[in-house]
Amino acid sequence: MAITSLLSAVSRRLEGKVALITGGASGIGKRTAEVFAHHGAKLVIADVQDELGHSIRQAIAGDGQNDVTYVHCDVTDESQVKAAVEKAVKAYGKLDIMFNNAGIVNDNKTRIIDNDKADFERVLRVNVTGVFLGIKHAAQAMIPARGGSIISTASVSSCVGGAASHAYACSKHAVLGLTRNAAVELGQFGIRVNCVSPYGVATPLATDFVGLSEGETEKMFGSLANLKGVTLKAEDIANAALFLASEEGRYVSGHNLLVDGGFTIVNPSFG
Ligand code: NAD
Repeated sequence: MAITSLLSAVSRRLEGKVALITGGASGIGKRTAEVFAHHGAKLVIADVQDELGHSIRQAIAGDGQNDVTYVHCDVTDESQVKAAVEKAVKAYGKLDIMFNNAGIVNDNKTRIIDNDKADFERVLRVNVTGVFLGIKHAAQAMIPARGGSIISTASVSSCVGGAASHAYACSKHAVLGLTRNAAVELGQFGIRVNCVSPYGVATPLATDFVGLSEGETEKMFGSLANLKGVTLKAEDIANAALFLASEEGRYVSGHNLLVDGGFTIVNPSFG
């Protein structure tokens, strides 16, 4: 391969691919949309924050150098998830990459003996049912093509206790369970299913959760981190998703890619 085409293959790792990103209007999803577009993917950004979603779509589309669509999609609503997948297929002809990233958190000080059922179920609806629906409808689109990469955002809370609320920990353990089961079931169709598990990133979800500014939140995460001198950014999670989405990850399936600087090794049962 000539050096120029080798370089462009490295820099455009998702050329010709079509990706759908839920929770793409903010934080990790937004940065992943930017990174995927930079690497040549055609994108559908799905979220419930329509104003933000439209402005991100516009920023990524630029002067028409990137194909990007925004769609309103509440991941807890099956008809909306189905419609978002259909939108990707209609707009760009197929779906290669599904990033089930939308998620919410609740108050981690809520004790299990006090937590009301409605609040517990609210977290599970978005973080678990939303991922289930995303995997289901992405798989339906990918099976006829006999290939695809489904990635979901879990968390360090997929494998340790005490890092967030019990509802959140339960939901992220479930994302790992869904990932592993779907990887087993969909492998026969050449579809890979993985998740990424971040440690703390100072996104709006995290700053709202801890009630601090972005800088203070980064400092707080830094003080609890195992890996010192490096601040975890949304881009680090986007790059992990990029690896799982791209040809470089073509034999990786059923994997939980921890982007945690060793946090879960040091804190096997945090809390
Ligand atoms: P964020 O709040 O910046 O982004 C989450 C996005 O999901 C928002 O745009 C929000 O509108 C969207 N969303 C929420 N409910 C939705 C629904 N029902 N349907 C569609 N979209 C919905 O937060 P983030 O930190 O970027 O979170 C992204 C993912 O990363 C989540 O799954 C979260 O649990 C996970 N995560 C975050 C951290 C962290 O420290 N920030 C750590 C581990 C895991």
